[in-house]
Amino acid sequence: MNKLKSQIAVTYSFKTVRNQAIIKGSLLILGIILMQACQNSPKQNTSQVQDQEHPNITKLKSQNAEFIPEIIKLNEKVYVAVGYDGSNASMVIGEQGVVIIDALRALGAAEKVAEEFRNITDKPVEALIYTHGHLDHTGGTSAFIGNNKDVKIIAREGFKDELEEHSPVEPILKQRNIRQFGRDLPVKDIINRGVAPGITPTDRAGKGYIAPNLTFQDSITLNLAGIDIELHAADGETNDELFVWIPDLKTLFTGDNYYKSFPNLYAIRGSQYRDVKSWGESIQKMSTYPVEYLVPGHTRPVSGKTLVHSNLKNYSTAILSVYQQTIDAMNKGYTLQQTVDSVRLADSLINQPNLQEFYGSVPWGVRSIFLHYVGWFDGNPTNLYPLSSSQEAKHMVELAGGEEKMFHKLSQALEKSDYQWGLELADYLLKTDYEKVKVTKVKIALLRALAAQQINAPARNYYLSYSYELEKSLEESAL
Ligand SMILES: [Zn+2]
Repeated sequence: MNKLKSQIAVTYSFKTVRNQAIIKGSLLILGIILMQACQNSPKQNTSQVQDQEHPNITKLKSQNAEFIPEIIKLNEKVYVAVGYDGSNASMVIGEQGVVIIDALRALGAAEKVAEEFRNITDKPVEALIYTHGHLDHTGGTSAFIGNNKDVKIIAREGFKDELEEHSPVEPILKQRNIRQFGRDLPVKDIINRGVAPGITPTDRAGKGYIAPNLTFQDSITLNLAGIDIELHAADGETNDELFVWIPDLKTLFTGDNYYKSFPNLYAIRGSQYRDVKSWGESIQKMSTYPVEYLVPGHTRPVSGKTLVHSNLKNYSTAILSVYQQTIDAMNKGYTLQQTVDSVRLADSLINQPNLQEFYGSVPWGVRSIFLHYVGWFDGNPTNLYPLSSSQEAKHMVELAGGEEKMFHKLSQALEKSDYQWGLELADYLLKTDYEKVKVTKVKIALLRALAAQQINAPARNYYLSYSYELEKSLEESAL
């Protein structure tokens, strides 16, 4: 009978499963298939299943309003290009020239923005400032300055050109990057990347990069194109991050230390430690300036002194609170998971529009801080020499009363929307010789069910991307 069940399961495709409601329907169908496998009768039709969108998905979709392409005139002298690429590029108009802040990623997109800027003013570019070294802010420079060697290209000392960074684990970082950003997802599954559109231009990505020719250490004030511009080192998302403050225009450019989402204190594509405490303090410092116009590295600018100030204030409070709660929990001797379980944002912060977890995630930040300070060992001697994953799986299956019983529990977890538990059970079974195709199909359904209720874009993209990879591997193994 097992063989028959798995054959019928193979014929059942999860390809069209798009959200929780459909998955619940699919589950029902899966249950029916398994029941009917014993009777060898035909499977049910899924067409009556209603399509209901989870509120988190509706919220995540609403974030797309942040990426509608537009050249925003922020004030008399500042223009911000949003939505042309994954990040923002800005132009500040001075007396005899202009200053560009950040240069997008794709040279093709940067050329379009440069043309829009030139339609506003034909004054020459006198300087270009990199807020940090990530490629999405540095890849399109030549579109703005051409071959003009006189243009000052300014960054912090210790600026890290992302193109130059090579990791020994590059292949896996690339794979995780593809999953986090949903780069290979079918168009129907794409919503966005949290603080960037779901699809960004690929036309000559990174090909316009030009290295900085002027760097500074902590702070510097420069007169560029007749405007006094302050640059301040501000560790946060990266250790080469800076912010730009223009006192006369009351305008502050944050780089990627601020955008409209809870900050990505750790990136699941596999980032190095982002100094969470410094990040919170950098935002705190920004909030001490009389800012009226705030230009983030991603998402639309914010105007109005009160709104800007409260946004910066709640952002720094949130970051420093996650940091301090984590430290306090660690000092109580909590394990990693206990620490994660104990940290949450205060009610006054949790509903703030600029702190929704579209991109960053509180528990991921907590894990990152924990590991930064004590490494992999969480303090519990049980974890000094844990069982191998196959030994652990064997014991857990035994405890469940055998593979069939565990599979039954797995199916129940899917039915009862206990998706995370289901994934954990599926992983135990996948470490045994039990029917891989059948279990993998349920795992795919669980991943898609989680994606269908996930507000965090990287998590959603990762669940979905991984589910398609599993589906592909099943198709290949069936050949
Ligand atoms: Zn960025």
